[in-house]
Amino acid sequence: MDFALTEEQQLLRRSVREFAETEMRPHVMDWDEAQHFPQELLPKLAELGLMGIQFPERYGGAGMSAVDYCICIEELARVDPSVALSVAAHNGLGAAHIAMFANEEQKQKYLVPLAKGEALAAWGLTEPGSGSDAAAMRTVAAKDGGCWVLNGSKMFITHGTSADTLVVMAITDRAKGAKGISAFVLQRGMGGLQAGKKEDKLGMRASETTEVILQNCRVSPAHMLGDEGQGFIQTLQVLDAGRIGIAALSVGLAQGAYEAARNYTAQRTQFGRAIASFPSIQERLSEHASRVEAARLLTYKAAWLKDQGRRMTLDSAMAKLYASEIAVRAAEDCVQMHGGYGFVKDYPAEKYFRDVKLLTIGEGTSEIQRLVIARQLLAA
Ligand SMILES: Cc1cc2nc3c(=O)[nH]c(=O)nc-3n(C[C@H](O)[C@H](O)[C@H](O)COP(=O)(O)OP(=O)(O)OC[C@H]3O[C@@H](n4cnc5c(N)ncnc54)[C@H](O)[C@@H]3O)c2cc1C
Repeated sequence: MDFALTEEQQLLRRSVREFAETEMRPHVMDWDEAQHFPQELLPKLAELGLMGIQFPERYGGAGMSAVDYCICIEELARVDPSVALSVAAHNGLGAAHIAMFANEEQKQKYLVPLAKGEALAAWGLTEPGSGSDAAAMRTVAAKDGGCWVLNGSKMFITHGTSADTLVVMAITDRAKGAKGISAFVLQRGMGGLQAGKKEDKLGMRASETTEVILQNCRVSPAHMLGDEGQGFIQTLQVLDAGRIGIAALSVGLAQGAYEAARNYTAQRTQFGRAIASFPSIQERLSEHASRVEAARLLTYKAAWLKDQGRRMTLDSAMAKLYASEIAVRAAEDCVQMHGGYGFVKDYPAEKYFRDVKLLTIGEGTSEIQRLVIARQLLAA
């Protein structure tokens, strides 16, 4: 067992950290305030390989491992969780679904520009009436002549407006339940595909979240990913891996919040001493640092299993559950340790506190992670 990062991984961490500090840190609060999705950052992210982190080089990707992926997402989230969320949704949901289930022709057409960062991906599962119970979706794809005609709407879609390529799930045979759901790849500008309302969010405000509306969106069979009826099974596999990304995002955010608390408490004085000298503050800093490290190890273990080609449903759900829950506590206590200064926008604490809540909700709430974990434990 080797817990050390390789030299390449240490270098990767340093380069992504430097990128985040110089290209992102100065703009974080402006992007947040204006709910500006910084698309201007995408070519620079692509230069670092961050738009195609785990995809093979033959498809324009950076060919990195799942552990490398965690390092990248962690370092982006430490500075701006919104940017990390967008990078994770592009890599880990939309583009990943295509990389995992598309045929060669579809990969050349859709994955190559996504992996090179020349196009942006979105992934549409959630609907107004179906979130945790994703199989209860209502979007349908009906056969008409040789084509599929899609009708319905998708809710809370990351990059619902700006994505060039969208993967959406739709019912192709209602009688078959979850086995009657199929996946389709769509492109912006197609007739019948439209972005709806952009959400005004509590946090993660620099990551674009929109409704997607499908109204008689007619596509040829070449737009189906994998076989008819496989869409829901594909979805579960995409989410198994996607959750490692949200776990890494949680580790990065918790690390950022812990560092902000450590730095602030070291310089803030009350009662004639740095507040970091008080036992209660030291206990809490120690707790958060330990939890962040435990969450990192769980996350890297799930990523390592993925790199070994092994099943990681249980480990990715455990990592996502634990990392997101400890991140919420770290961000909350970061505000507390800042006192009144944690409540104002001059310090990063309040933004971590707003951003963090998404992590116990997106890609399966904590309650759903517990169901996934229990199902795995009881089936063992
Ligand atoms: C910023 C943001 C970005 C997102 N990006 C995407 C995206 O790109 N693509 C996409 O498809 N979706 C996306 N989502 C949707 C996200 O995955 C869902 O919001 C999430 O899965 C929860 O679904 P819901 O909001 O419908 O809540 P619900 O499922 O209605 O849940 C409400 C509450 O009920 C609880 N609950 C539900 N069922 C159970 C149960 N069986 N046992 C116990 N408790 C239960 C939940 O845990 C939760 O606390 C995004 C959401 C947000 C906020």
